[in-house]
Amino acid sequence: MYLARMNYREVEEYLKTNDTIIIPVGSIENHGLHMPLGTDIMIPDKIAQLLDEKSDIVIAPTVNYGATEDLAGFAGTISIGTEGLIMVLRSICDHLYRHGFRHFMILNGHGGNTAAIQTVGIHLYRKGAYLANLNWWLMAGQINPEWAGGHGGGEETAGIMAVDPGLIKTEYLNLPEGIRNDLGDDLPYGAWTNILYKGVSVTVPREVKDITDNGWLVHSFKGDVPTRATPKWGREMLEAVADYIADFGNHFRKTTLPDRIV
Ligand SMILES: [Zn+2]
Repeated sequence: MYLARMNYREVEEYLKTNDTIIIPVGSIENHGLHMPLGTDIMIPDKIAQLLDEKSDIVIAPTVNYGATEDLAGFAGTISIGTEGLIMVLRSICDHLYRHGFRHFMILNGHGGNTAAIQTVGIHLYRKGAYLANLNWWLMAGQINPEWAGGHGGGEETAGIMAVDPGLIKTEYLNLPEGIRNDLGDDLPYGAWTNILYKGVSVTVPREVKDITDNGWLVHSFKGDVPTRATPKWGREMLEAVADYIADFGNHFRKTTLPDRIV
């Protein structure tokens, strides 16, 4: 049930028996030349659409912008930063809270959003509500380890194939990550913006465009290359994640709220 399609009286009726809401949160950012910039928006939207067939939980409009500073060097990427996302999400949740929503489920499409979501989760907890953060790509990898993947790899490519295979630019599927040891060969590339020194991973925040011109980056998930993606994988995976969220929501909505109103 999409909030945008309801009127206020229907929302009042809904709240008499259920105070749970799902808020998809995405990001518009480079995922490699083979993938669309809206990957982290379109996959959660597709999961929400599948979920709508399995659950009566209200789905709020998707937050299309996220915190993605490290990818901001690629044309078309837009970041509102962690602070920006905290403000947007907190405003959305505070208004929903005012109307009576108390169980918030974030359907997250992008790892960089996590810090902001955690912050808003604690904010809501202190007001006597719960927030559950559902990172779809991590959930998928735990539901089926063969689905586990990283940024722009097989997992996300399969997810977009489930949305619309025509969104994948197949001529770029075979491009390598093209990683550069931008800090020198003594501090070789590790994963995302980490380097690996003496076998230990150290984070050095910097722009991904300085590490690779391509922008799909699954180094920590070796083997998750985009070429292994299939539409069938994508459909099964997003269906399984939607099933999981429907089941989870049935339990989450029944949890007794924290007695923490401050
Ligand atoms: Zn992504």
